[in-house]
Formats: sequence, C-alpha cells, structure tokens
Amino acid sequence: MQKDFCSCSVLVIIDIKITFRLIYKIGGKNVKILVINCGSSSLKYQLFDMENEAVMAKGLVERIGLPGSILTHRYGEEKKEIQAEITNHEKAIKLVLDAIVHPEYGVLKSMKDIAAVGHRVVHAGEYFSGSVLLTEDVMKAIKKNIELAPLHNPPNIMGIEACQRLMPDVPQVAVFDTAFHQTMPPKAYLYGIPYEYYEKYKIRKYGFHGTSHKYVSQRAAALLGKAPEECKLITCHLGNGSSVAAIDGGKSVDTTMGFTPLEGLMMGTRSGDIDATVITFLMEKEGWTTEQVNNFVNKKSGVLGLSGVSSDFRDLETAAGEGNKRAQLALDRFAYGVKKYIGAYAAVLNGVDAIVFTAGLGENSASMRESICDGLGYLGVKIDSAKNKIRGQEIDISTADAKTKVLVIPTNEELMIARDTYEIVQK
Ligand code: AMP
Repeated sequence: MQKDFCSCSVLVIIDIKITFRLIYKIGGKNVKILVINCGSSSLKYQLFDMENEAVMAKGLVERIGLPGSILTHRYGEEKKEIQAEITNHEKAIKLVLDAIVHPEYGVLKSMKDIAAVGHRVVHAGEYFSGSVLLTEDVMKAIKKNIELAPLHNPPNIMGIEACQRLMPDVPQVAVFDTAFHQTMPPKAYLYGIPYEYYEKYKIRKYGFHGTSHKYVSQRAAALLGKAPEECKLITCHLGNGSSVAAIDGGKSVDTTMGFTPLEGLMMGTRSGDIDATVITFLMEKEGWTTEQVNNFVNKKSGVLGLSGVSSDFRDLETAAGEGNKRAQLALDRFAYGVKKYIGAYAAVLNGVDAIVFTAGLGENSASMRESICDGLGYLGVKIDSAKNKIRGQEIDISTADAKTKVLVIPTNEELMIARDTYEIVQK
C-alpha cells in the first residue's frame, strides 16, 4: 500500500512537472512546433514559430539506410549540407534535432524549446476523422492500418517512435491524409461490390491529400470573404500525385482517390481509374504477378506511360511544344480527366462557388489551368488570361463578371500540420 502510494506520488510529481513545462511552453508566446514527414528513405521537416507561423528552419534527409545519405538543413536564407552515415530514421531525426540546436547553424538554444511534434501519417482508415494526440491506443490503430498503406504507414510509424524515444517529454500529434475525407457519405465511399467485403476488409474509398484539400479550402473561403460553412468548392490538387475533392460547407463529400492513392485522375506514373478487368486480362496475357501488375499501374502508367516521354509535366509541356504528339495527348488526357471530375462534382455539390488549383502543376502551369477550364463556361467559369500567368501567390484568376471563381492557392500541408498540432496540445 505504502509502496503504491510512493510510486503514485512520484508519477504525479513527474506528471505535474511535464504539465507545468507544457503550460509554460504552450501558454507562452514562443511556441515552437516541429513538423515531420517521414518517407521510406527520406524525411522532411519544418520548425514553426507559432507566434507568427514563420518557418524557422526546414530541411530534408535523403537516402536513409543507403550509401550517400545527406541532410540539407535550411535556416533563413542559409543552407547547410551534412553528409553522415544515416542508417535509420532515429539517426535521421537525431541529426535533424542536432542541426536545429547547433551553435553555428541552429535556430533554437535547446531541444526543450520544442513544444510539440506534428507527424504526417498517411492512412487512418476509419479510426480518425481529425488529428489526434499520439497515445498507445492511437499507435495501435495506426499499426492496424499498415495493411491499407504498406508503403506509407511503416515509415510514418518509424518517425513517430524515433521522436518518442528522443523526446519522451514532448507531446506528439498525428495528422492524417485520409482524415479530412472521413465526412464522405457511404454513397460516395462505397464501391459497387458485395457489402461483406467492406465489412470484412474495410474495402472502400478513403481519399488522400486531405491536409492539402483542407488547407486550400479554408484559404479559398477566406479569399471569397465567406465562412467555410457557406462555400461549395472543388479543390484540384494537381502534382505528381493528383486528386480532386468536392467540399460542401467545409466538409469533404467526395474525392477522386480511393482505397489507395491510385484511383481517380491519371497521374505522373499512376493509371488512375481503370476497368479492373484490364488487370486480370494483362495478368493472363503477360503472365504477370500481383507485384508486377501493381508496379505497372503505379509506376509505369499515367502521363509517363501514355507519352513515353516523362512523368514530369514540365518535360511534357516542352516536348509538346516541340511537336511531340504523344506528349500533347498525355496533357490533353490529363486535362480532360480533371474537367470531367469538375463537372461531376459540380453536380454532386449542386453548384460551385469556386474551383481551386494547387500543388506543383496546379499552382504553376497556366496552360494546364487554361485547358481544364476551357469549355466550363456553362458553369460560369471565365479565366482572365493575364491573371492566369501570375505565379507564386494566392490569386483569383477569373474575370470580374465570372459567376464561379477560379483560385490558385499554394498549398501548405506543413503549416496545416503545425496548426492542428498547436491546437491539440493547447487543449
Ligand atoms: P508536386 O508533386 O506537387 O511537387 O508537383 C510536381 C509536378 O508539378 C511535376 O510533374 C512538375 O513537373 C509539375 N510542375 C512544377 N512546376 C511546373 C511548371 N512550372 N509547369 C508545369 N508543371 C510544373
């Protein structure tokens, strides 16, 4: 009894110390949030000062577990490259933390100044519809979803566990790519297959790029001078991976990516929507294994497969400009796919206030935006071609009399993760 009481007291004192430190760090003005995005062999990070949401430092660790691993750390206008043997994610994160507090190129005096860490986690399955504080139960749920995202969730988990070991007192938050789309109704997320397979294996549409769709939809509402609850938006995240979402009153009601990030639009190397029997037909004809066929639809298809030129839209635009017909075909097919989904989602939403373009291609390619919007006059879309050429800023590129606005909004998934993390640890 006495022993129990003693150990309890010690725990309470430790808990009070952590809570006090947290109140001091979170309650104070200088809250610093570290955002981590762990891939299988790379890790991106950004450190935010939440007082003004400024990025204090950011960087990238490449080739984790491979020869030639390197950390590129950026602070202010400066850059520091550190070559080291980075055999695993824990070593990568240790190197990042050392860089952040380094006397020469660091931006913090001590690691203790980091109030919380926000982690990008790809798949939450049906467990979470928002960001959550990482607890043992949350970790168990993320691990259960490994089978739904075998390439993405394991490195996300490695990053979280490494931070928990290196910063045991610092709260960690998970921000999921799928969470924003959990508001989709069953009629949007169920496939036309026997219901028992949804019950048995949770086969359904989940949707991805949720953090980006959420960020740009909130910014779009602000630019329109409305509350998110008052807006009908179609957000087009067009990059290497691409997806379109229908957002009604601030909530995702449909999106193009599905059970995995393969469905929907044709992408850099992914086929997008395809008749499922094409797969079985090819497996029979070519004698392919499931691995080969997965590789085919995920890595060899899309604009790369169709053009035979490149998965990079800049290369395609250059090649098409030089008269390469298949490069032009790939660009036309891509624009056609986006246009088709805009039409479908305008029907789903029963009208649309604004179409939003974001991500590498959506933010930068005036010609792609023009091709997509060409022929959307019936929706009230009218682009101002001079405004469409402006790059690198949030802008309304529609004409003053356009009924439906077309907005270009640079995405900022890291800031969204930092905001969610800050909000959760404040609670
Ligand atoms: P992301 O995945 O968001 O980084 O976007 C990468 C894609 O955006 C690549 O296919 C790039 O070719 C494309 N992209 C970036 N800048 C441009 C540009 N100026 N014109 C056309 N495509 C671009």
